[in-house]
Amino acid sequence: MADKVCTLPFFYGNITREEAEDYLRQGGLANGLYLLRQSRNNLGGFALSVASTRQYYHYAIERQPNDTYIIAGGKSHRNPVDVIDYHSQELDGLVCLLEKPCNRPKNMQPKVGPFEDLKEKLIREYVMHTWNLQGAALEQAIISQKPQLEKLIATTAHEKMPWFHGSITREDSEPRLQNGPRRNGKFLIRQRDTNGSHALCLLHEGHVMHYRIDSDRSGKLSIPEGKKFDTLWQLVEHYSYKPDGLLCVLTEPCPCPDRESGDIRRPPLPRDHPGLAAASGFFTRLKNYSVPIPGRKKIWGGSRHNTTDNLNPYETRAQNNQAADKEAMPMDTEVYESPYADPDELRSSTVARNQLFLEDGELGSGNFGTVMKGIYKMRKTEKPVAVKVLKNNDDNPVVREEMLREASVMQQLDNPYIVRMIGTCEAENLMLVMELADLGPLNKFLQRNKHISIKNITELVHQVSMGMKYLEEHNFVHRDLAARNVLLVTQHYAKISDFGLSKALTEDQDYYKAKGHGKWPVKWYAPECMNYFKFSSRSDVWSFGVLMWEAFSLGHKPYKGMKGNDVMQMIESGKRMDAPPNCPPEMYDLMMKCWTYKAGERPGFSVVEPRLREYYYDIAQ
Ligand code: AMP
Repeated sequence: MADKVCTLPFFYGNITREEAEDYLRQGGLANGLYLLRQSRNNLGGFALSVASTRQYYHYAIERQPNDTYIIAGGKSHRNPVDVIDYHSQELDGLVCLLEKPCNRPKNMQPKVGPFEDLKEKLIREYVMHTWNLQGAALEQAIISQKPQLEKLIATTAHEKMPWFHGSITREDSEPRLQNGPRRNGKFLIRQRDTNGSHALCLLHEGHVMHYRIDSDRSGKLSIPEGKKFDTLWQLVEHYSYKPDGLLCVLTEPCPCPDRESGDIRRPPLPRDHPGLAAASGFFTRLKNYSVPIPGRKKIWGGSRHNTTDNLNPYETRAQNNQAADKEAMPMDTEVYESPYADPDELRSSTVARNQLFLEDGELGSGNFGTVMKGIYKMRKTEKPVAVKVLKNNDDNPVVREEMLREASVMQQLDNPYIVRMIGTCEAENLMLVMELADLGPLNKFLQRNKHISIKNITELVHQVSMGMKYLEEHNFVHRDLAARNVLLVTQHYAKISDFGLSKALTEDQDYYKAKGHGKWPVKWYAPECMNYFKFSSRSDVWSFGVLMWEAFSLGHKPYKGMKGNDVMQMIESGKRMDAPPNCPPEMYDLMMKCWTYKAGERPGFSVVEPRLREYYYDIAQ
């Protein structure tokens, strides 16, 4: 949402209440003149400033945990723009109707808050240090998990600020503030107990004042009787610009001696933004970390390469957070990167039989035979794997060749959102050893989990679009993209599988031309596949539209009860499937784009993925 709001001419970004009043005054102070600004205390929230009878009124538009926006006591809305539209028609508690937007002066961009400015860099550093990722794996992690990472950074960043002194006593805090220059407004924050209570210690006229910072049931922080904040850095930001009940504003962070490191010098701290200075210091120190990276969280056990005893600055907190949310990110699993990303593991396309241990029970079955769960013992680690075993009684060389062809396509692909081929194993049967995606096919998972949120579905579908964008960039056509062929590693991590029909195109080929009709998933196929046997990334986009429909209908079968021929006729006549119940209009609109009749006019994944990303960030931030 934040991105969309930024483009509104009456959105001013991170300005203070007083600045908002100045702009309204300059705008003529007419009744109902209004502007929108970013909240300085509610993460992801906004504030509405309105003029009425030559006075100013400010309303917090809070973002609720269910991703709706609300002015306290009022109705909830899908986004802040809807709040404004509503109050231009209905008073519903406001002092007057919103009559006229107070637009920003020419050439003025919305003001970017100090944390916003640093956020991108902080997230990058966080992902690099926490999961030891670089290059494409790093970029993909940031793209797919940005909303989660932003929240994590926002709520843990204070731990690395120089003004945060951790768990020290009141007595210990005083000499720290009294040492060195004794400027009014020098401050630190200490942790009082493990229940989330802190204290703000402030130097004023040579004396140290201690203000308790309480955390209410919903985790909001405040000095008694004071304004509530989502994070400590927002609280520091606020009291740095006005005392609001304190003896004076916060001017200068008192650096935490425990965190002082001999070789790192922090930049000088600007007077007006202790929070910014502090965050810059945090970033500088992060940049100077030369810590080797510890192992990532292990979902299935086994050891991780490059583990070390050195502690990552975020590790404990990040893991606690994950434990609390039970929402592992893709990077927390063992299958985010290829097992061969570790240079100590020898890359090989074959797996020795004595390194492979099959477990009882099937994961599923397909055309070639069964898929079993197993363990692959590598040099340093053990990986849980899925093993596709060719039916023993199938001495048909064509089937065997097909299976090997699938393996060879998969072996060329390396992306977090695609099931990787670990290797083939020739033993009692031909076996394909793949990454394990334990939660099974997306359609079945959704059928079993009807209460899954739209946000969660969008997250998964977006990941599929990321995997498909990778295939498109590398000139592969999947030809069997459907919800049944998307496997879940966790409820928040999807991978594309089943490359049995896939083809690698050469540089000069735009499409693959099938020689004849096969056993095809007609309901997922674009018109040019059926009419001209032509397959391209654009026909995969058509299938992706059907996959989206399956996902947003919670695993329903597309074109229910219809025969393949009827579906073809329906498409030729220009009709398309209706939107699934409760499907967000933005998502149905994208499905319809994927079902553009002419392949040349259909968007590619380079367009579809950013559309999905934008919508996902909108609803998840
Ligand atoms: P397939 O022959 O590729 O269609 O696979 C048949 C079934 O086996 C799938 O629908 C899944 O239930 C299961 N399966 C296939 N590959 C994997 C995997 N990598 N991880 C977990 N289950 C899998």
